[in-house]
Amino acid sequence: MEAMHQGEVVQRAKEVFMSGRSRPLHFRLKQLQALQKMLKEREDEILAALKQDIHRSQYDSALLEMIGIDNEIRLAMDKLEEWTSPRPVEKNLLTVSDQAYIHLEPLGLVLIIGAWNYPWALTLIPLVGAIAAGNAAVVKPSEISACSSLLLQTLLPLYLDKEMYPVVTGGVSESQELLQQRFDHIFYTGSSRVGKVVMQAAARHLTPVTLELGGKSPCFIHNKCHLRVACRRITWGKFVNCGQTCIAPDYILCEPHLQTPVVECIRQTLLEFYGPDPKSSPDYGRLVNQEHYTRVLGLMEGYAPVLGGQTDASECYIAPTVLKDVPPHSRLMQEEIFGPLLPIVTVSGVEEAISFINEREKPLALYIFSSDKKTIKKMIEETTSGGVTVNDVMMHYTLNSLPFGGVGQSGMGSYHGRHTFDRLSHHRACLVRSLAMESINLSRYPPQDSQRASRARLALKSPLIDLSKKTYVWAVSATILAVGLLVTLLVILLIAAGLNCTCWYWRGFYN
Ligand code: NAD
Repeated sequence: MEAMHQGEVVQRAKEVFMSGRSRPLHFRLKQLQALQKMLKEREDEILAALKQDIHRSQYDSALLEMIGIDNEIRLAMDKLEEWTSPRPVEKNLLTVSDQAYIHLEPLGLVLIIGAWNYPWALTLIPLVGAIAAGNAAVVKPSEISACSSLLLQTLLPLYLDKEMYPVVTGGVSESQELLQQRFDHIFYTGSSRVGKVVMQAAARHLTPVTLELGGKSPCFIHNKCHLRVACRRITWGKFVNCGQTCIAPDYILCEPHLQTPVVECIRQTLLEFYGPDPKSSPDYGRLVNQEHYTRVLGLMEGYAPVLGGQTDASECYIAPTVLKDVPPHSRLMQEEIFGPLLPIVTVSGVEEAISFINEREKPLALYIFSSDKKTIKKMIEETTSGGVTVNDVMMHYTLNSLPFGGVGQSGMGSYHGRHTFDRLSHHRACLVRSLAMESINLSRYPPQDSQRASRARLALKSPLIDLSKKTYVWAVSATILAVGLLVTLLVILLIAAGLNCTCWYWRGFYN
């Protein structure tokens, strides 16, 4: 796409957004329904494109990408009204009779730049949030997953409002040209290196960014743990999509005596998953291209793998590979592997594992395998990462009530479900005051004196009062109860007083 054309596309998307077309909820719902329809009707084409791009099996593609997108669409459709409703907040004494709430409004035009490893999920999940929040969005899929990118460019305009949600394809230069334009938010998924380029470009226009980046996600195996189950889960997470998953366990940390049994369990699991020759298994993928194949091959240099290690350049094939006793400062431990190599680094125990993790960049995910609650608590409390899954890998990604994102070098800002909607909305502070009860406000106006000033201070320093429905029901119930008690007390007193009078009367009568 030429520079001029790109500019026009962006300009048109801005104009249609400004026209207010995307604001009504029925428009957003219609777009979400259309997206759902597209995924359903064109699933075979999408799965075929993924097969061509990354040699991923149709079952894995359905499990790893399509279901996740569909879940996001269904959730957004179900919850749209709730998400977009004004959100009342607590008030202080001064504003107790006013309306104070957060009004969620669209940001405007969002640029979504996706990566190649899950080309549909990484562009469409942010798009679902952008649509739900009432934004326009320019979608830029990765040029590396070329078939998916082309198909997305063909399909999206057939189903969605093509002026509001245009697709721009192309490589680095097209991405950079796009980044020259002014957007209201940039949602980028990819490497930390390019994340910096994106943030620099965004800074020129003070555009906020969400950066979904990568890094090395550690996986600690504690000595109190069901090794067979742990290794099955780790093997799946590491080698699915041929290791090209941002939250794949990057390396294993365990005590030296666990190393051999761990390798043995992984060996058995690999045999169960892919048979004796993973290359011929329909469930095992390939590196996305020669460049990535060469990069991953380079990381293996100088090691004698304990499992796997076979390669075939003509197919970008690297077998599931496990490396033992990897030195903590080796090249393999410096950069994100993003391929089917699983190094094992030994540590003396939980304490050293924690120091090991904390001495490095903050990871996107942390995995802890242990049946000891104290160890789990300690590891969660004494480390940091974008997300954690205990006794499994990657599963926190699938629960869209949890925010998904990185911290530090692994990214900024999180998404999924309502979190995407919130991320791509402006949270506008609204206070609707009444013009009545001016006497309460007089204390803040000049001319000031010490009495007025202390009254004003008292009013402004008042604690927040939660007037949400629950508190309101409690307050009303408590008032009714108090009034009821008061009335009962009064009646008792009256009866007592009545009896007393009667006694006095009869006493007087007989006397
Ligand atoms: P990539 O090469 O496909 O790049 C991503 C996007 O950035 C593409 O659309 C590309 O056109 C654009 N781009 C590339 N170079 C650019 C430049 N110099 N200027 C402007 N735009 C540029 O993807 P990748 O970076 O190889 O993706 C792999 C990385 O992404 C890994 O580090 C992985 O961990 C990370 N990742 C993170 C997540 C997440 O959710 N946090 C998900 C997937 C991948």
